[in-house]
Amino acid sequence: MGAQSLRVEVLRIGHRPGRDPRLTTHLALAARAMGAARLHLQPGDPAITEHLEDVRRRFGGEFRVEPLKEWRSFLTSWPGTSLHLTMYGEDLDEALPRVPLKEPVLVVVGGAKVPPELYRMATHNVAVTHQPHSEVAALALTLDRLIGTPRGPPPPGARLEILPSARGKRVLERR
Ligand code: SAM
Repeated sequence: MGAQSLRVEVLRIGHRPGRDPRLTTHLALAARAMGAARLHLQPGDPAITEHLEDVRRRFGGEFRVEPLKEWRSFLTSWPGTSLHLTMYGEDLDEALPRVPLKEPVLVVVGGAKVPPELYRMATHNVAVTHQPHSEVAALALTLDRLIGTPRGPPPPGARLEILPSARGKRVLERR
């Protein structure tokens, strides 16, 4: 599939501040690198929002982590399709052709415990394999299928640009 102009945002439910900081930070980094526009984080975690702000200041783009108190009303009022990632869902590749690419897509990722009503509230429940997976890996694969891995120049506003190199580090610094 792959549609670079499609707007995709991510909703992470059940983050545990103080217990999951590294995992949720990695989820945010993967969402940003793979072209999502926002991570809505429930509950919010200022440390993760600030970490991603720092990444944005250096590497550019518009990605932000937004705190969210209540996910149900957010999901209900989402103006497009929602894809809940779960190993119990239908195959991602079978569901994708039914996802309209003109509406924004919300990819929903659970935490340690997933509220049962999420399964009926989401437009699609989709699996990236039917094995227990890492949410970071499942999200990255889903974004690759939906919008494709971003290529080309760094996002607007980047102060640092990594120059591809077979060996060592080459970094261009803009002032
Ligand atoms: N024990 C939780 C439950 O009640 O389902 C799931 C824990 S799992 C570590 C956390 C999240 O990873 C899930 O909510 C889901 O979003 C994602 N995930 C895990 N395995 C997946 C798979 N095979 N396909 C898609 N997403 C998956």
